[in-house]
Amino acid sequence: MRIPILDLKPATAELRADLDAACRRVLDSGHFLLGPELEAFEREYAASTGAAHCVGVANGLEAMQLVLLAWGVGPGDEVIVPSNGYIATWLAASQVGATIVPCEPDPRTYNLDPSRLAALVSPRTKVILPIHLYGQAADIEAINLVARPRGIKVLEDGAQSHGARQGGRQCGNLGDAAGISFYPSKNLGALADGGAVLTNDAGLADRSRHLRNYGSKVRYQNEYAGLNSRLSELQAAFLRVKLVHLAAWNARRVALARRYREALAGIDGLTLPWVPAWAEPVWHLFVVRTARRDALRDFLTNRGIGSQVHYPIPPHLSGAYRHLGWKAGRFPLAEALAQEVLSLPIGPHHTAAEIDEVAHAVRDFFGQA
Ligand SMILES: *Cc1c(COP(=O)(O)O)cnc(C)c1O
Repeated sequence: MRIPILDLKPATAELRADLDAACRRVLDSGHFLLGPELEAFEREYAASTGAAHCVGVANGLEAMQLVLLAWGVGPGDEVIVPSNGYIATWLAASQVGATIVPCEPDPRTYNLDPSRLAALVSPRTKVILPIHLYGQAADIEAINLVARPRGIKVLEDGAQSHGARQGGRQCGNLGDAAGISFYPSKNLGALADGGAVLTNDAGLADRSRHLRNYGSKVRYQNEYAGLNSRLSELQAAFLRVKLVHLAAWNARRVALARRYREALAGIDGLTLPWVPAWAEPVWHLFVVRTARRDALRDFLTNRGIGSQVHYPIPPHLSGAYRHLGWKAGRFPLAEALAQEVLSLPIGPHHTAAEIDEVAHAVRDFFGQA
């Protein structure tokens, strides 16, 4: 691909000297798990989000799973999740034994539609677990209005929304807790797997901290049945380097997204991302929608332009949830999105000229150059 959807090499190149220094620091320290780099990263990342506590863990899936475990969510409890989006959100709930209750998205934002929640909650609903999909905040204020009076917790899937905001407050600090992923391609990505729990609840932070380390407070005294889900010193040190650049890199994404929106405005048959007035997205992905999605993707591929479908199979139709017996047609909005969305190249190291070239190719495809 001449224009890949995302290339991680320039990001590493830009920070190479600092990453090398971070690596040397960890190698020289002889400390590889649960050490000073992790503590420093947890402090710095929490401060950058406004949340009181950060607990570094092994990945985003386990970050969400640990919060659910810490809240005692399990068999017999219901967790409301988006019907569209990535399967990790569903897996976090089903792997603690909870029952999945899918909620269809707002057809404009593709984020969980709060107006559908009242019909989905039951006395067994323990948690609502929205994704800030593609880097744009779900309407947590509206979700909180349903959750708070009923004693339901709100867990944010913040894997795609590092630095995004709703009404001035950061994603990851809008609900009761957030699960964050530092998978390498995320806006804040480690150089391997990584994740974090964010919360303002000291008790939850404490419990998550023990649960990520076999449920142990004092070595070899296991209070709870935990996981092994630690964020390594090396990855914490790399993340400290990258955190310094997160805001600037997000700003580059915002500028490129604006460029796309101007260049692609008014194309018949193409739906651009819709941003509510209160949202400040960080454009983890730039997702367009068209009934001619597969043909557009082929057209771009032929021009050396990368693209991706996030995500081609909604969780309820994937093999992992076949046993639930949900058939095609059960969640029509999620299914339509799976057929029609396409992610165009966007990342902090794409150039304006590259974005112009992609936009030009899209216009050509629709015959509206
Ligand atoms: C990446 C991602 C995750 C999972 O993160 P991992 O660190 O790979 O476990 C969860 N939810 C969403 C929406 C994601 O994009």
